[in-house]
Amino acid sequence: MIEKNWMARSASFFTGDPTRLAKDGAVAVIGLGRFGGSLAKELASHGVDVIGIDIAEAVVAEFADRLAHVSRGDATDEVVLRQLGIDEVSRVVIAIGSDLEASILVASRILKLGNRHIWAKAISEPHAEILHQLGIPNVISPENDMGRRLAHLIRGHISDFLPIDEDFVLARTTPPVRIADVPLASTGLRGKYDVTVVAFKRRGGSRWDIADRDVTLYADDEILIAGSPHHVEVFSELDKDTEG
Ligand code: ATP
Repeated sequence: MIEKNWMARSASFFTGDPTRLAKDGAVAVIGLGRFGGSLAKELASHGVDVIGIDIAEAVVAEFADRLAHVSRGDATDEVVLRQLGIDEVSRVVIAIGSDLEASILVASRILKLGNRHIWAKAISEPHAEILHQLGIPNVISPENDMGRRLAHLIRGHISDFLPIDEDFVLARTTPPVRIADVPLASTGLRGKYDVTVVAFKRRGGSRWDIADRDVTLYADDEILIAGSPHHVEVFSELDKDTEG
């Protein structure tokens, strides 16, 4: 068995014992670039202990006093991962993108360690495919997802767009006039438009409520709809032909 002699290694900065943090439910973020770094900071700002690992000294220095523990190390090295207690962590995010070889190697090491929840960032479709094939359960493609999202926002009728899966999304929009002023159940919108209104917010209100079948929506409400990207887009543009 490999001894967890992490203090003897070249970990540049640390505040807490990573092996203890690992056992206590910390999240490991491997690669503290723009994506991994903002993820790590966001988690930390919500009180989550984060063990950050990056190969670049300057990056590690930047995060030294922001995360529960930051180490400089090559995460493709299984010994380094074990010394930092990453084998004990249940949630790991591999946020290395442009160095494809490093991303794949780290992914295979992490899979070998048997962590329960693993996310890995991909920067291209082939990259995502390789990570899926390796067995990474959650492959995220931030650039791709953001591009898709922005395409819907730019078209103008959707103010927020969250892809849940390839063919299922949540979108924030306003009710088309043809479903406004009558109870939702009488609009037949599921049958006609293949979308579901999940929640609504009244104009000037600050609270979202679940949209049950008896609720009446008004044109100046905001609504959250679920469906395929195509159906959501078609539904949110229903009033377009009546606009000046
Ligand atoms: P971002 O857009 O999030 O900045 P990127 O895909 O452009 O990411 P990458 O070059 O993939 O950037 O690296 C993200 C971070 O991962 C960098 O800070 C880099 O130093 C770190 N990194 C790269 N390889 C390794 C490795 N083998 N071990 C640990 N950290 C690494």
